[in-house]
Order: sequence, then structure tokens, then C-alpha cells
Amino acid sequence: MPAKRLYYADAALTHFTATVTDIREHSRIGGTSLWQVALDRTAFYPTSGGQPHDTGELTAMAPSGARLEASVVDVDEDEHGEVWHLTSKPLLAGTQIEGRVDWARRLDHMQQHSGQHLLSALFHQELGALTISFHLGDTVSTIDLNTESLEPKQLAHVEQLANAIVEEGRPVIQRIVTSADAETLFQSGALRKLPVRSGDIRLIVIPETDAPGRDGEGGAKPDLDVNACGGTHVSSTSQIGAVLIRGTERIRQAVRVSFLCGNRAISAARADDALLTGLGREFSVGRADLLAAASRLKTDAKASAKELQALREELANYHAARLLVEDPPHHDLRIVRRVFSDRDADYIKLLASRVTSAAPHTIALLASTQQSPATVVMGSSKELGRNAGELLRAALAQSGGRGGGSPTLAQGLVSRDQLDRMLNGLEALLRSGPVPAV
Ligand SMILES: [Zn+2]
Repeated sequence: MPAKRLYYADAALTHFTATVTDIREHSRIGGTSLWQVALDRTAFYPTSGGQPHDTGELTAMAPSGARLEASVVDVDEDEHGEVWHLTSKPLLAGTQIEGRVDWARRLDHMQQHSGQHLLSALFHQELGALTISFHLGDTVSTIDLNTESLEPKQLAHVEQLANAIVEEGRPVIQRIVTSADAETLFQSGALRKLPVRSGDIRLIVIPETDAPGRDGEGGAKPDLDVNACGGTHVSSTSQIGAVLIRGTERIRQAVRVSFLCGNRAISAARADDALLTGLGREFSVGRADLLAAASRLKTDAKASAKELQALREELANYHAARLLVEDPPHHDLRIVRRVFSDRDADYIKLLASRVTSAAPHTIALLASTQQSPATVVMGSSKELGRNAGELLRAALAQSGGRGGGSPTLAQGLVSRDQLDRMLNGLEALLRSGPVPAV
């Protein structure tokens, strides 16, 4: 018989006694085994329904009084409903144990899970958005809603309502009903999703007021939320602590809402605070002026980039003029060949076009070795009738590089150790060869 699940009756139960009913080897790595232990009763929650498993300890007492402590590192359930506790110590069937569930982790999961029920109910009530799925993550949890989009003010509205209900301290009630009752509730619209399982069904209810009408009778307002759920929940909304919506993201036909509840919301606020303090120090302004400071920095950066580009163009003009003086033409052909280690690819391209447009019968063969592989640029004055794109592509291909371009300006990449050989070959070809037609 599968373990009796003690958390159904009391989600705050952390200490319990039980008897080991079964053990199986889970895995063995380098002579060390991990074991799965089944108990006749357990307060450990197994990973299911979007809620992660508990952790804690199982302590066995020998008749001699010796204690054997086994950490529970994972808990899951099998298809028969049995709960398996993963531990490094083998606890044999019949052993009496004391179980201890890590309360901080459990409470955190309860805060996120109950917070999700509350948010899902409010997203439906206020915006007509149904929850498609829920994920309780290590740091942040998410709800996927079947809606096109959510405005920041809609999120703020739902968040505010959720926190008002947290402050009210409404009871979170567990109700066990038959599957026929669940069907009736579903037909009436009180239950938004009908569970597929048969037999008794556990409903988690957040009432509309703190004096709810039982089973929706007696003229009381309908409950805020009725949800078929096997998870662990807080007993009062006040235990959720705080609800903080972090943001949204579009996922296919849905909108994914990230949120944090309870202690996670406090930790996130503290982390944000540290970030803002750090940014304020970086900008030397108070946090109220941070946005203006960041905006100013962006504007300044844009102006600087524009000015830098103008200066590069001016520099390229002077640089081109100097190179033309240094390399006079021979027999109606001038080849300006240079390799730069301190200029980037964009600059040598600019320089090549300035060199060939400033003087006739000129070919520029420029390379930048600032990055690996090296960039090679070939420019050719129009009236020379040489096709820079084709000549450079062929020369690069022979050296294991690649590239190409127009008849007047081409560029490509070649490994640094092939660069000189490639330039030598190309220059020799240009100086000796017949002038190919464009
Ligand atoms: Zn649930």
C-alpha cells in the first residue's frame, strides 16, 4: 500500500515517525549507491503538479540507541502512487525512522504555490485571462496566461489586489469532494478546470470573504478561487507574505508572467536595492536621478560616435594624401601597399577608397592584422580597368582565404601567416600582368 500522505491533513507538519516498507537501489556511481526508500506514512512532498519536492532527513534508531541519519535529497512518486525518498544510506524494510522536512524550503514552495492560485484567480476575475500552465522555479515562478498582451497598469492592478487579499488574511481551505461533485462545480463555472482523475478530489479554496458559505450555499458570494490541486498550501493568505510581479514575456499564443512571493519577494527587493545603490555610485548620482543620468550617457555616447566617425573620415583623407606622397607612380601604375596592426577593418576600407579616389592609376592593397584572421582590402581607381573583386577573390582562394567585392573595392579574410605571401603574389601579378578587361 502506498504511503499515507501526511501533508494533506497538515501542510505545516515537519516531524513525523514512520516505518520503512521498501527499499530499492536507485543508481550506483563508483561503488557508491543511492537508495530509494518507501515509508508507510510521509510528510515529504514528491515533485508533482508543478511543485518541486521537499528535502530533509530520515533518522533511524537502532535498538542499541545508535542513530543513523540519512539526508533526503529528492522525492518522487511512481505510477502506483508510492512516494520514494532518495538517500545515500540504505534503510532496510521494518526500520523505524523519524522524518524531518526542511521547513524553509517547504514554506517557500507553499508561498509560491498559494500565491500562484491567488494570482491566477485574479487574472481571470479582473482580465478574463485563464492560466494555461504554472512553473515553480528555483528563483522565479511563472504563470502562462491565454491572453494577447498585458499592460503594466493591468499587472499593477492585479498585484495590488493580490497584496490586499494577503493583508486580509483570508483562510485557504481544503475541501475533499467526489468526482461527481467536482463535475457539478465545473458545470456551474465555480471550478475552472476539471481534473482527469477519478475518486475523491482535493479542492483548494480561497473564499471571497473571510466568512465563506460552505459549498457555495447559503447565499454567500461565490468563492474567489476553487482549484483541484494536490500541492501544499498556506493556511491563510497572510502567510504568502507578499506578491511581487517581475515582468512579462510573450510565449507563442500566451503571455508568461514572472512573479515572486514571500521571502523571495524580499530577497529580490534587496538585490534590486543593491543594484541601484551600485549604479548610483557608478554614476555619482542619487537613485532618483539614475534614469536621467543613464539617458544622458546614451545621448553623449551617440554624439561621441558621430564625432568619432567624422574624425576617422578626416583622418583617412590626410592619411591617404600622405600615402600617395610616399608611394609615387611607376609607368602609369601606383600600388600603395601597407599592413596595419593598429587599424581596424572599417578604417582600412575607408582609407583604400580615399587613396584610389584621390589619385588616378592607383591600387590600394591594405591589410589589418588587429584581429585574426587578417582583413585585406583592395581598391582600384576606376580608369585602371582592373577588377578588384575578381583579382582579390582569386588571390585569397589560393591562400586559403575568402572574399570578394566590386571592381573598385573588395575585401576578404586570410590567415596572418599567409598574408605576406598572398600580398606578394597579388602585387607581382598587378605589376607584370596584362590589364584584364573589366
Ligand atoms: Zn495548485
